Amino acid sequence: HQKESKKDIVAKVLVIGEAKVGKTSILTRYTEGSFQESMIPTLGIDYRFKKLFVKGQEIKLQIWDTAGQERFRAITQNFYKGAMGIILVFDLTDPKTFKTLSNWIENIKQYSGSEACRILLGNKCDISQNQIPKQDIQNLANQNKIQYFETSAKSNEGIQQAFQQIADDIANKF
Ligand code: GDP
Ligand code: MG
Repeated sequence: HQKESKKDIVAKVLVIGEAKVGKTSILTRYTEGSFQESMIPTLGIDYRFKKLFVKGQEIKLQIWDTAGQERFRAITQNFYKGAMGIILVFDLTDPKTFKTLSNWIENIKQYSGSEACRILLGNKCDISQNQIPKQDIQNLANQNKIQYFETSAKSNEGIQQAFQQIADDIANKF
């Protein structure tokens, strides 16, 4: 039953970051192929599944969203428990969400140790008003050994690539 058990690989992945950076939109875009301009801010999805392939092997991502508790800095250790991948998101058009990334990175270290694979997404790249210097972003990514992608939940740019990367990383590590 080798084949069956291989199909059962499920990886818990978290999408985290400041409120309004587009976490729920990224998840909705990736799992449903849709986008809403007027996303209800407090709307969170528990989790969604998405299957993809790494080197011909099926892997099922169980992708967790927050329920808006990031607004109160109230994400608990329990949320991080068992996560194999963490997708950290900021908003390219909102420098505040870039500045606070170090807090998020600290949280990740504290709660998930060094076990989980991590990637960084600069979301809303469809909007031209981007005030965060590219070099600053790249420096932060390098310092923390975390791969960086520009994404847009609206245009779908970079979304597939980002999830494929985290799945590849997870498959390599676990
Ligand atoms: P969350 O709080 O991080 O879950 O953010 P949401 O997914 O609720 O998105 C916050 C707002 O940003 C909503 O109005 C979305 O429509 C909008 N949004 C999310 N992603 C994008 C994007 O890639 N481009 C643009 N232009 N707007 C986005
Ligand atoms: Mg949300």
